[in-house]
Amino acid sequence: MAKSSQRLFDNVEGNYFVDQTCIDCSTCNWVAPESFQGASDHSFVYRQPLTPDAAIQAQKALISCPVGAIGTEQKVKIEPRIRFPDLVDGTEEIGVFHCGFHSESSFGATSYFIRRAAGNVLIDSPRFASTLVKQIEKMGGIDIMFLTHRDDIADHQKYAKHFGCERFIHRDDAVSTARHVEHQIEGPDAVEIDDGLTVLPVPGHTKGSACLLFDNTYLFTGDHLAWNIEAQNLRAFRTACWYDWSVQTTSMSTLLDYAFEWVLPGHGRRINLPNEKMRASLENCITWMK
Ligand code: SF4
Repeated sequence: MAKSSQRLFDNVEGNYFVDQTCIDCSTCNWVAPESFQGASDHSFVYRQPLTPDAAIQAQKALISCPVGAIGTEQKVKIEPRIRFPDLVDGTEEIGVFHCGFHSESSFGATSYFIRRAAGNVLIDSPRFASTLVKQIEKMGGIDIMFLTHRDDIADHQKYAKHFGCERFIHRDDAVSTARHVEHQIEGPDAVEIDDGLTVLPVPGHTKGSACLLFDNTYLFTGDHLAWNIEAQNLRAFRTACWYDWSVQTTSMSTLLDYAFEWVLPGHGRRINLPNEKMRASLENCITWMK
């Protein structure tokens, strides 16, 4: 729980604040852009939520913060309509959802949930929070868990045990607690793991990084690719490339073989663009990387 006594000095006056435990994961910046923004090594409240929509955003950020660094001076009653997994696109019955409840062990990475008739899918792992677990149970549980790379696996073991799901990761990132993951993708080739679910190996950020393409529309990218608000384009993370930048650049080019309208990253902002604009932005990113 955030402490008022540790309130950062650059928060504006008012109910919401960020305290000194912030790890600068940037989650609140994109979940609630009307109230939160980043500074050099932390985030803060630059404007108190003034509208009902901004208040909803701020409450979602509070729930998502991996370290509980967002607090309120006066107790806030969480709006009943806020519920994670939170619909991003599609319908409540068949759609893509943001799990919220980011985990500190993955530096606040975003986890997504796909609800579909053929069996639900969890992409990377959120915190094993009972509120979230109960809601996922109500939505039909998890059949498949896809782990984009070694850094964003958080509580994958707890989710796998609770829901009895089959996990997938690339063999080159099947390390640490992921070394016993049931299905380990090998080599550089795309692999269809289920109807409409294709794993695209994209080594670079880590050796075993991989994206998941769903329905030729949604690309879950882990830490390979995200929307950059300053560049107004897709970008890779140059300063967070742990394996090989030139390999990552080559991997980025392989994505030109696929059409998709959404990029949903582990870190950073997601984006929805028509196919042609997404492709143009991907080409812009590849040029920038070179
Ligand atoms: S979500 Fe929490 S830890 Fe992450 S930047 Fe915001 S306040 Fe800091």
